[in-house]
Amino acid sequence: MTEVFKGSFTQQEPIPEEGIAAAVAVLRSGRLHRYNLADGETGEVAALEREFAAWTGARHALAVTSGGYALATALRALGVGPGDRVLTNAFTLAPVPGAIASLGAVPVYVGVTEGLTIDLDDLAARAGGARVLLLSHMRGHLADMERLMAICDAAGVTVVEDCAHTMGAAWRGVPSGRWGKVGCYSTQTYKHVNSGEGGFLITDDDEVMARAVILSGSYMLYERHGTVPPEEVFERVKYDTPNVSGRMDHLRAAILRPQLRALEAQCGKWNARYRVVEEGLRGTPGLTLVERPEAGRFVGSSIQFLLLDWPAPRIEEVLTRCAARGVELKWFGAAEPRGFTSRYDSWRYAPHPAMPASDRILRAILDMRLPLTFSLADCAQIARIIRAEVGAVWQAAAPHEDRTTIT
Ligand SMILES: *Cc1c(COP(=O)(O)O)cnc(C)c1O
Repeated sequence: MTEVFKGSFTQQEPIPEEGIAAAVAVLRSGRLHRYNLADGETGEVAALEREFAAWTGARHALAVTSGGYALATALRALGVGPGDRVLTNAFTLAPVPGAIASLGAVPVYVGVTEGLTIDLDDLAARAGGARVLLLSHMRGHLADMERLMAICDAAGVTVVEDCAHTMGAAWRGVPSGRWGKVGCYSTQTYKHVNSGEGGFLITDDDEVMARAVILSGSYMLYERHGTVPPEEVFERVKYDTPNVSGRMDHLRAAILRPQLRALEAQCGKWNARYRVVEEGLRGTPGLTLVERPEAGRFVGSSIQFLLLDWPAPRIEEVLTRCAARGVELKWFGAAEPRGFTSRYDSWRYAPHPAMPASDRILRAILDMRLPLTFSLADCAQIARIIRAEVGAVWQAAAPHEDRTTIT
């Protein structure tokens, strides 16, 4: 009997009842805009900003319309402009180079390691030519942040962290988003909290925050924010900071607040699922697991493994066979961008010189989301299916076929 997985890889949990009730209250009030407040009212958005700042330990938090908007706003607030070179990961998702390109700046890609983190030797070699690194903790894999910060500090490179996959993660006890000058998050449906669309930016820097608040569309109502830099900082920046509207509204904030309170527990559930899949795949011939380093606390909302040096048609075969059994794997090695998955050489609006060492890794990456709607038994079944199909393709590869040749 061949088992087939029947679950959906894109089905999220419902919004908590408490969030639904708060959202309905916002709807009844008619006050959806973040600056539309009754006398003495803080409002859902400002309350959420305070709670998010407290949760991360940052001095300031700004809630915005999306993660991509938070990234672009962070770069703008740091003075990145047309023609500036911004270092970023070759292995990430399209909104990251997109945020850089939205400012007319130029992404400069840094390679990826077998651990799926940014290649720190490559970073050290390229750091001279840029003022900013937009660091994507892609799929929750955290680089050695102490070494990364030492490289960037020595080269005078300011770090902005893209924490779309690391809300709730930490390196040596310091939350992701708190290593660089600015941390950015997404609250889009497929991330760790779900408001459909949305994002955050956090920082300790008063001036970066004041600029970000005005950029986000505060007009001169910035004192209604959850965390507010001193007035003299706004006085310094308010005349030369453009308004690029990207505000969060009370409705989204209302459904995010209870989710933020539940996030620790949710992270535990993701990791329990992750460990079941990881253990189920361990020891599969031809398959390389990406081990999570001791120093990192991660959130296992997705899992990656490598089919290193497998010929492309064999990997396609694994994808097809797994899909036939209900298991949707995403492949970063496909020649053409598909779904959410694309690669540095698909972003043709920016220079993309060949990166052979990274290409070898990207060609090998298979990726799978682990929504919390999956039970632990679902996860065990998914792992059994992948293990069987990878094994079948591996074994069927003709003995004369050189598995180290990329075709
Ligand atoms: C989702 C995502 C973003 C952008 O978030 P949006 O809220 O969709 O704009 C940025 N970086 C990574 C790695 C992401 O996965």
